[in-house]
Amino acid sequence: MTQTHVHRRRGSATGAALAAAQRRTFGSLFSSETLRVLPVLLPVTLGGAAVATVAVLKFIESGPGTSTLAGVFALLIASTVAEAFPVPIEGVAVGRTSLATIFIVATAAIYGWPAGTLVAVLTMSLIELGRRKPFSRIVYNSAVYALAGAGAGAVATWIEGHGITRLTLAALGASTAFYAANITLLAAVVARWAKESWVRFLGRYVYLTAVPFGVMACLTVILVDLWDRSPFIAVVLVGPLASIALYEHRMHAALRRLRELDRLKDEFMAVVSHELRTPLASVYGAAMTLEQRALEQKEYDALLRVIYHESARLARLVDQVLWASRLESDRTEVTLATLDSAEVAREVVDAARAHLPAGVSLELALDDAPAAIGDAEKVKQVLVNLVENAVKYSPDGGRIAVRLAPHDGHVRFAVEDEGLGIPASEQRRIFEKFHRLDPNLTRGVGGTGLGLYICRELLHRMNGEIWVQSEVGKGSTFVFELPRADST
Ligand code: ADP
Repeated sequence: MTQTHVHRRRGSATGAALAAAQRRTFGSLFSSETLRVLPVLLPVTLGGAAVATVAVLKFIESGPGTSTLAGVFALLIASTVAEAFPVPIEGVAVGRTSLATIFIVATAAIYGWPAGTLVAVLTMSLIELGRRKPFSRIVYNSAVYALAGAGAGAVATWIEGHGITRLTLAALGASTAFYAANITLLAAVVARWAKESWVRFLGRYVYLTAVPFGVMACLTVILVDLWDRSPFIAVVLVGPLASIALYEHRMHAALRRLRELDRLKDEFMAVVSHELRTPLASVYGAAMTLEQRALEQKEYDALLRVIYHESARLARLVDQVLWASRLESDRTEVTLATLDSAEVAREVVDAARAHLPAGVSLELALDDAPAAIGDAEKVKQVLVNLVENAVKYSPDGGRIAVRLAPHDGHVRFAVEDEGLGIPASEQRRIFEKFHRLDPNLTRGVGGTGLGLYICRELLHRMNGEIWVQSEVGKGSTFVFELPRADST
């Protein structure tokens, strides 16, 4: 466990360093970071350009036949697709590792270094152009691939012998050369940018990427050997490669979700402790004063009100936690029956009006409120939550309206406010468990991030839906629908 944790942190630290280095270094051609890395950038770019030019000339000079052209073209397509969909590898945030290396190295081992270099350069530049990366980054990364591709081809050519053994050794040697050149040059530029030791960065990269490299080297050997028998047979590799990529994507997405939930839970613990402590302190303080001092009736009543309000707030908080846990473990019973939507809305609005803060008004608009199918208590709970939120997130006051209307076989409930509003990017996520907006957007209004999650889950169990329309600074309208009783 500890090891995984350490690994993960180191991975993301390195990943973040590389990502930041790439962004800043290549963000602008003449930034101070670019000037700092120039001693690496310049020779690599010039070397890459020279190697790529010689590779083009050599490839043309060799007069490739149709089958060679078709083979190189097929491998180029495969490597471009692989580069476009990098495989996220756990612990290697840098390393949305691309399976493109397999095809580039295979080209070098099968068709020689000029073809390998061409495929490497074209793959990188096409993808980086497509991603609209800064020009200097396109040039540098393509140059790195050109040098790595040429190195792979040179090693493959250098290995002598015959048949499958030579081919296997050539593929292994070429993979190693490509990998070594690639991470050495990447580590060089990042170390220079971070003003750190190049050897330390290189060591970290090797530690993080050695296993994926091993897997890719083996896959390259399999591809090259199969290709030697027949390029058509080599196509069977598409299956395992695609499933590796898909599996890694799924795993990575699941891990990301779990980490986000983990982070939100930590945040939730902090929020709940704070939310519990504040009313508890008020109740405790009020009770102490009541006990220790002889008070006038007015003061006495005010302190009792504090105790009443704050303990109600505590009860609501504990209720929310209990409801969330009940919904999570599916222990919620929902009894569906015909309910009087107008009656439910009236009860909620009347109760809320009894303790509205100054500057907030609450109106109920019931033009036509048909009966709905649902669990009256749960619908009330949802509506109470939405009205409480509307009040809570209108710190400057404003008009709140609860509207009911029929809509396509449903009864539509809407709670409108003129409060803080919610940015479009957050309008889906606020219904997720523990999710709260940044305190800067809510002026520090307290909460647990459970209310809307509970609303959504309860409504789903009553065949209902909930969503929000909102504009920051203008207000929000929370809408939910339940099936109409007379349409079923
Ligand atoms: P909380 O207990 O934090 O209010 P909710 O699940 O009820 O939890 O709401 C989630 C988040 O959605 C809140 O933290 C708040 O940022 C935002 N939100 C909910 N209702 C409103 C509203 N009417 N106006 C503005 N923001 C709202």
